[in-house]
Amino acid sequence: MKRILTTRLIRDVAASVLMLSSNLMFAQSASPTLHRIQPLSLEQVRVNDQFWSPKLKVWDSKTVYDVFDKLEGKYEPDRKDLIDEKAKLGRTRNAFLNFDWVAQGKKNTGEHDGPPWYDGLVYETIRGAADLLVEYPDPKLEQKIDGYIDRIAAAQAADPDGYINTYTTLVKPNQRWGTNGGDDKWQHDIYNAGMLIEAAVHYYKATGKTKLLDVATTFSNYIYQQIGPAPKANVIPGHGGPEEAILKLYWLFRDEPALKAKMSVPVNENHYYTMARFWIENRGNYGEKDGSHARKSDESYNQDHMSVFKQKTIEGHAVRATLLATGVAATALENKDERYVETANNYWDNMIGKRMFITGGEGAIADGERFGANHFLPESAYLESCAAIGAAFFSQRMNELEADGKYIDELERVLYNNLLSSVSLDGSHYFYENPLVATDHKRWAWHSCPCCPPMLLKMVSAMPGFIYAYDKDAVYVNLFIGSEATIDRKDSKVHIRQMTQYPWKGESIIEVDPSASKAFTVKVRIPGWAHSLENPFGLYRSQVSEPVSLKVNGKAIAVHIQNGYASLHRTWKKGDRIELSLPIQPRVITPNDSIQTIKGKVALAAGPIVYGFEGVDNPELTTYALPVDTSLQLTYKPGLLNGVNVITGKATDKSSKAVTFTAIPFYTFGNRGVYPYKVWLPKQ
Ligand SMILES: [Zn+2]
Repeated sequence: MKRILTTRLIRDVAASVLMLSSNLMFAQSASPTLHRIQPLSLEQVRVNDQFWSPKLKVWDSKTVYDVFDKLEGKYEPDRKDLIDEKAKLGRTRNAFLNFDWVAQGKKNTGEHDGPPWYDGLVYETIRGAADLLVEYPDPKLEQKIDGYIDRIAAAQAADPDGYINTYTTLVKPNQRWGTNGGDDKWQHDIYNAGMLIEAAVHYYKATGKTKLLDVATTFSNYIYQQIGPAPKANVIPGHGGPEEAILKLYWLFRDEPALKAKMSVPVNENHYYTMARFWIENRGNYGEKDGSHARKSDESYNQDHMSVFKQKTIEGHAVRATLLATGVAATALENKDERYVETANNYWDNMIGKRMFITGGEGAIADGERFGANHFLPESAYLESCAAIGAAFFSQRMNELEADGKYIDELERVLYNNLLSSVSLDGSHYFYENPLVATDHKRWAWHSCPCCPPMLLKMVSAMPGFIYAYDKDAVYVNLFIGSEATIDRKDSKVHIRQMTQYPWKGESIIEVDPSASKAFTVKVRIPGWAHSLENPFGLYRSQVSEPVSLKVNGKAIAVHIQNGYASLHRTWKKGDRIELSLPIQPRVITPNDSIQTIKGKVALAAGPIVYGFEGVDNPELTTYALPVDTSLQLTYKPGLLNGVNVITGKATDKSSKAVTFTAIPFYTFGNRGVYPYKVWLPKQ
């Protein structure tokens, strides 16, 4: 704690000196919400990128409709459990029927479609769709969502308290929040509430419409009335996520106080902030010994086995853990409480330094969908899509908190690998698990627990806001994605335009256009892999031979990397142009010796993309070994897998004969049929 305090103090002092000296550019209108680094709102960014734009188009025009349709039961099951269920029910499960049943006054019928968290998945999809609407306005989609919101609001209206969780109402009405012998880890009352709140905030920001926000606010008030210190119920979320969600509701009303008048219930936003902290700080607090204010829980599964502040490693169900960690980091942005800052750092360092897979995957163990022990990183690990995406949201918040590019390195690792693999190139089939080796791994149309597609939509729709950031003194270029953004402050405006063919080429051009010439800093993230720092803790190692190069207006600049960024401080004027070149030549990754399960193996990467070997290209791949000194060629194949770089080279087969291999991006596995694949090869 001491160390962090000291460095943070120095940083704060340095920042204030800078501010005082001359550069008041971004300080004038610094709002009280200003984080250490502030990402942009979606309205401020437009993506126009050769890699991401076609994908966003598929997700916007197809995937989001696909997920809503499937939540509505409009699909043909392709997995045995759902095929059997359809035969039994005479129809496919429909998440919206649950809302309709509750709206009709049904209670304790024992009948509920899908898992208890089905409400939450509807809300998460609305959140993702809302963010997509900002980038891609779509009246048809908006109308569809408005129809869903009417059904959600009708379900809430049937309850005099404004409580809404369709599973609990239909199946366990006397066990709200898992009380009276229930279990919120299963019922997901609080999780679903959190996802509702988040959907409402995002949908309001996208459309200005308040109906869902009214539902969420009404419910939040009821939650605050019911849950908290004695005599309220001692309840924490059975599934992390609501901590950050309700904090967003607090931020919204604090920053837009006029909005309160539009709600049908009184709003005291401080209650929502209090709730977020209660849900974080009361983990491991089961109440008094005499049984008063008690909660029956003691599990690391949902991070309730001890105080979060005493827990030094990231534990339990990986999605729950990463979303709780995101909430801790987000709350730290608000309260600057060193206990929060230290906890967030402890979790992140442990996750990235000892438990992360090379694709950004998290959660080694299928049983309980858990984080494994340090350095337990088996190739066949579980690696749920949601866990990697949760980790990516956590890394984004850590970047906001600590202003260090290493966090964006890990966000990026997820984006280009474990996240992209979770969806087929055609945008309608999904992976739940993303192991690094498989023989017959197949994406499904729909799953009995289809949590991953909504999580995918939440991240890809939020991503444009993560490309740039700013603080009092600097503009940050965090991701290399073709885009335009305007950082619009009271006294000045900076327009940024980025052109790139990343990740297939290493060059990016960044045009910086301030409305008037100003002295400030542009911080360009230099990914760790680009200077032979594959992982900040040495969990993986790699080397590149080409240097990073940076030019401003054609003039080479010495690259000094500090906290993951090259800082370019100058008086910026209209038409200034930064040229960045990152070495995307293929590289060989070796694991830390502590990782027993992949000892003596190597993997390939180029830029942010981790590669692997699929049977369709490499029929004998099970016998391959890779000579460490093999020469690797990177070739762009426009007609393959929607256009990818492939890595080719020589491997040896079982008789030590040289064979040509083709490696493709990990995320493209399974798009040409189902073949065996692997990421790590034995080193020869
Ligand atoms: Zn999932």
